[in-house]
Amino acid sequence: MAIDNYRIVSEPVFGDMSGMAKASMDWRRLAHNVEALAALTEAPLMAMVKADAYGHGAVPAARVCAEAGAARLGVASLREAWRLRRLADLAETPVMAFLYTPEQPGLAETIEAGAELGISSLAGLAAVAAAAERAGTPARVHLKGDTGISRGGVAEHEWEAFAEAAAKHRAAGAIDVVGAWSHLACADEIGHPANGMQKAAFERFLAALGAAGLEPEVRHLANSAALIADPETHYDLVRPGIALYGYNPVPRIPVDLKPVMELRSSVAAVKRLPAGTGISYGHTRHLERDSNVALVPLGYADGVPRAASGRAEVYLAGRRRPVLGRICMDQFVVDLGDDAVAPGEPVVLIGAGEHHPDADDWSAWAGTIPNEILTGIGARVPRYWNRGVE
Ligand SMILES: *Cc1c(COP(=O)(O)O)cnc(C)c1O
Repeated sequence: MAIDNYRIVSEPVFGDMSGMAKASMDWRRLAHNVEALAALTEAPLMAMVKADAYGHGAVPAARVCAEAGAARLGVASLREAWRLRRLADLAETPVMAFLYTPEQPGLAETIEAGAELGISSLAGLAAVAAAAERAGTPARVHLKGDTGISRGGVAEHEWEAFAEAAAKHRAAGAIDVVGAWSHLACADEIGHPANGMQKAAFERFLAALGAAGLEPEVRHLANSAALIADPETHYDLVRPGIALYGYNPVPRIPVDLKPVMELRSSVAAVKRLPAGTGISYGHTRHLERDSNVALVPLGYADGVPRAASGRAEVYLAGRRRPVLGRICMDQFVVDLGDDAVAPGEPVVLIGAGEHHPDADDWSAWAGTIPNEILTGIGARVPRYWNRGVE
């Protein structure tokens, strides 16, 4: 399988930089997650590989997802779509981009390159139709209704006008209407009243399109949470993101998902310090007793959230150990107690082992969600895709 060939997706500058940090992706786990999610639904999958596949590397992730059976790919920006359209081995896998401004350069080129476009406003529809004329080929579009997230999508009072304008552009040959879609605000909260309201609104959106003679084949509403929690949202396509990468946004419903990324560093230096010593910026923490401390050369510039200071733990020399004091831009300090640890000892920040912290732990420590932890891994950390990191 071609996947074995692309091992390093960001170029290390000085050979193997894994001493400082290394994000290792196991393609078999990603393929496993695609299959585990596909088993939950009759609908095909649009694998969301936006934001560099949630920090994992968009190109290899897209290839693995497609090989594992994902029918489509989803990204946010035109640039991301472009990059994927240029890969010959993914020529048969449609890519949808959905975030752009109507006046943005590159719309015509994106249409020409064969990417599909989500359309979230009347102005966006007009711009895409005009760009399609410049490109000399109809734009393949997914019309988006705002069913209650109040973010992207056309508001309900404009659905009729949107549908009529789309029908007009279709008749003129400027667009092919491939899809109709929306996005849920509270899918991770089972039983939240917004879910039922949004499903009903989505039906009204489809009816508004139907009244203008539009019956898109691909109706889609579900993100990871809705895919896991609510089959009524599956329609003709589901759009998992975070679950592909191994994190379940609805932990009440167990799904056999495996974290795809491991983030490791290694100890840069160790020293003995006396009880009472203040540690790191602000001296927010003082040693309670004489202790060995380890310096780990990874910081918030690399995506280790400063907000996790005082709570975070890493796996080092056989067990979890607390991070002491503030996490800095490039480094943090770990409490070793009396244990002797040599420089170079591996440090696991995100791992898949039983005692390893994972992105769920970091999100709890930092008051966020694993999506933000994974997408926040910095550009300084080289990404490796390998045969397995068990
Ligand atoms: C990011 C995104 C998804 C995936 O969301 P997850 O919660 O990560 O599964 C699905 N659809 C759209 C439109 C998105 O922007």
